[in-house]
Amino acid sequence: MSLQEHCIPIDRGVHRREPRSLFDLHRRELRRFQRYPDCTPQFIEAFQRVLDVGTKAGIEGRAIKIEAPLLRLSKTDIVREATRLKVPLELTWSCYEGGEKACGRCDSCQLRRRGFSEAGLKDPIEYEVK
Ligand SMILES: [Zn+2]
Repeated sequence: MSLQEHCIPIDRGVHRREPRSLFDLHRRELRRFQRYPDCTPQFIEAFQRVLDVGTKAGIEGRAIKIEAPLLRLSKTDIVREATRLKVPLELTWSCYEGGEKACGRCDSCQLRRRGFSEAGLKDPIEYEVK
């Protein structure tokens, strides 16, 4: 699955219309959100609303509650927190190419690699491209 297949194109223009000051204030987060619009607070809130009003459980007041504790963390902070919690990062996967090894080239691989690099930690998975 490519990144384009994973993303929902309708969200791509939303942040481009944001006021310049907001863009400057949250530049890093906005850049990340533009790449992954289904990882935005707006998407999570909208999806929660769908669960609340569009499912039997939601109508009965027992809707599934979406938790997204990593939503506002950078990749670097996620890597640091995962390491602190002793998450078996060698079992995690970020690549969108679906090969035997992570490709090392796709956007998601590059974000992951940068996260480990900025955290000063070695990524325990193997990549096709060094
Ligand atoms: Zn990849």
